[in-house]
Amino acid sequence: MLRHTINEVREQIKKWKKEGLTVGLVPTMGALHAGHLSLIKKSVEKCDRTVVSVFVNPIQFCPGEDLDKYPRTLEADEKLCSDAGVDIVFAPSPKEMYGEGHILSNDFLTYVIPPYFYVDKLCGKSRVGHFDGVCTVVNKLFNIVQPDYAFFGQKDAQQLIIIKKMVKDLNIPVEIIPCPIVREESGLALSSRNKYLSDEDKKEALALSKILFNIKACYDKGITDVKALTETAYSFLNEHHALEYLEFRDKENLEEKTVADDNTQVFIALKIGDVRLIDNILLG
Ligand code: AMP
Repeated sequence: MLRHTINEVREQIKKWKKEGLTVGLVPTMGALHAGHLSLIKKSVEKCDRTVVSVFVNPIQFCPGEDLDKYPRTLEADEKLCSDAGVDIVFAPSPKEMYGEGHILSNDFLTYVIPPYFYVDKLCGKSRVGHFDGVCTVVNKLFNIVQPDYAFFGQKDAQQLIIIKKMVKDLNIPVEIIPCPIVREESGLALSSRNKYLSDEDKKEALALSKILFNIKACYDKGITDVKALTETAYSFLNEHHALEYLEFRDKENLEEKTVADDNTQVFIALKIGDVRLIDNILLG
C-alpha cells in the first residue's frame, strides 16, 4: 500500500488500467485530518482504486515559510488511509520527485506557471511562486498516476480554481471533483496548520469563520454592497489578528466584485502570531 517510487506506482497503475479500473487521486501534504478523509471517502466511493499522495512539496513553499516544521506523520497517515480503503499511499522523497539536489529553481526545472491574473491576488500576492509549485507538482502527480478523477478541497479555493484552469488550458484528461470544507463544530475549518495553534490561538482563529458566516447572514438578509459587508468584519478582529486580506471575488474567474451576488466567493487570510490561516465561503 505504501509506495515511495514513481516506478512502483506506474507499474500498479498500468495493471489497473489494463483491467479497465477507474483511478481516483487525492493529492495531500499529509498530517491527514477529517478534511482530507472527506476527499478520500469520495474517491473510494466513486472510483475502483484510490491513490493518496503524501508529499510536502518543497517548491510550493516560499523562503521563510514553514517547510521544515510542517507536520509529517506518515505512519498515522498510512493507517488512516488503509482504514479508509485507499489502495496506494504514494509518499515520494523530494529527490524522487525532483532529482538530485531537488532543484528548486526554474533555471533547472520545468515549471507549470498558472496565468498571472489568477495568482496576483489573494494568497498568490504574499506567497509569490506558490501556485507555480502547486501546479508543477499536481501536473507531475497527474502524469504519474493518470487518474480519471482528482479530488480537491474548497478549503483552498484559489488553488482549486487554478487547478481547474490548468486542466482546461492544458487539456489534461482528468475530471476535477471539488469537495466541501470540513469544519470543527466551532466553525474553524480543519487544516494541518491548526496543529501550530495553542488553545488560546484556536479561540482567536474562530474570527475567520465568524466573519465569513456573518457576511453570509448579512448577504442573505439582502445586503449586497461589498463595502458594507466588509465593514461587518471589523467587530470580530482584535490585537491578536493581522488581517492579510478579505476579498469578494467571482467563484470561477476570481474577478473582483463591488456588489455581491450568488456567484461571489468571500476569501479571508488572517495571521495569528506566526500562523497564517485561510478560509472562504460562497454566498450563493
Ligand atoms: P493539504 O494537505 O493541506 O495540501 O490539502 C490536501 C487537500 O485537502 C487539498 O485539496 C485541500 O483543499 C483539502 N483540504 C484540506 N483541509 C480541508 C478541509 N478542512 N475541508 C476540505 N478539504 C480540505
